[in-house]
Amino acid sequence: MTATGNVFHRNATTTPPLAVAGEGIWLIDDAGRRYIDACGGAAVSALGHGHPVVAAAIAAQAHSLEYAHTGSFTSAPAEALATVIAGQCPSSPERTLDRVWFTSSGSEAVEAAIKLARQYHWERGDTRRTRLIARRQSYHGNTLGALAAGGNAGRRAAYAPLLIDVSLIDPCFAYHHAHAGETPQEYGLRAAAALEQELQRLGPDTVIAFIAETVVGATAGAVPPAPGYLAAIRAICDRHGVLLILDEVMCGSGRTGTFLACEAEGVVPDIVTVAKGLGAGYQPIGATVCTAHIHDTIATHSGALLHGQTYAGHPVGCAAALAVQTVIRDQGLLARVAEAGHGLHARLAARLGDHVHVGDIRGRGLLQAIELVANRDHRTPFDPVRAINQRIKAAAFARGLLVYPGSGSVDGQRGDHVLLAPPYVTSDAELDMIVDRLADAIDAVFAGQAAGGAR
Ligand code: PLP
Repeated sequence: MTATGNVFHRNATTTPPLAVAGEGIWLIDDAGRRYIDACGGAAVSALGHGHPVVAAAIAAQAHSLEYAHTGSFTSAPAEALATVIAGQCPSSPERTLDRVWFTSSGSEAVEAAIKLARQYHWERGDTRRTRLIARRQSYHGNTLGALAAGGNAGRRAAYAPLLIDVSLIDPCFAYHHAHAGETPQEYGLRAAAALEQELQRLGPDTVIAFIAETVVGATAGAVPPAPGYLAAIRAICDRHGVLLILDEVMCGSGRTGTFLACEAEGVVPDIVTVAKGLGAGYQPIGATVCTAHIHDTIATHSGALLHGQTYAGHPVGCAAALAVQTVIRDQGLLARVAEAGHGLHARLAARLGDHVHVGDIRGRGLLQAIELVANRDHRTPFDPVRAINQRIKAAAFARGLLVYPGSGSVDGQRGDHVLLAPPYVTSDAELDMIVDRLADAIDAVFAGQAAGGAR
């Protein structure tokens, strides 16, 4: 089978290689070339490829019940998966995240979160709340609502006139925004104060919600919050009746070593989105999880979220995600993510920490990134025309390594990083291979060498 010419590919000028199989952390193309999937696609493949338990669960569900519309029915896999998700979400005396709204992607989960937040206020008669606050250098999805909430300048540019007006404040990004001599805690509080300032500018009672990625994924490159930042954000939201939406589409579902990344911050949002690692690529599925209070507000007023899509809560999708989450639990893989994350970080630091063009190595768990800079002392980014991140991706690809490149990490235009998000099952020997091949690719790009063949 070769490419037909009928697919509208992501890059409309080229046809990518034909992927035919996957085994563990490897993807294989039709020429038999093998690639280490060190980014899990886009931080998706938590269990690697070709997991027999998940494949069997999908087949069994397709045989027993492939689909039943959620307007009329619930299904056993949806019920069980919702319980598994709710059971792993953190709670506080004020908040229990226990209601799960299913979607088929991360963007849809964010759309549902935004609409749910608005409807929550509307149901209570608080109809003046019409504004969202989000952050620059963030990404919440590509549908128009989610794109408007995101701060990825490149992805927004062509569609700017179609996007709702969302306030974008500075991200919490110590490498570029902390002042010399400021402690991480001081910086975290200063970064959070930007939310208070924007609320005062808009009028706090006009704001629906603040939305942020707990650990920023692809747009800034694996940026965890400074200590105390999210707790301060939580307090500001509480003070003004503003909902806190955490987008954990990329960093949730165990990717950073806890089911939700916000668990490590001791913060419970009002609404959280998950997707990628939830179904781990075996089926398209996402979820918007909200507190009992938000759910009950809807239930006791109009009685329904004014939203819904045909494939939401799809039984086969839920069965796949249930199998994925069961494997993760049974094999204790969250502990492995934390351990392997330290191992990956240490290997990157040992091999690339002194590289003249590696400015920062950062992340949490198996969401790690390196930022490439022209000048380490001044943290100066490369001229974007050099497309350093894309050249590293190409050099890595030629060496049989898949990485997720990112640009505009600093200010939407400038900044190059490379994201790594390998499967939770990646062994130490495989981590060695990932770092070897990546370092080789980086050396080749900066030496101006032609990349070698995949192996
Ligand atoms: N939110 C975050 C944090 C993401 O990283 C992504 C995708 O990369 C999305 C939302 C959108 O998810 P999807 O591509 O499944 O629509």
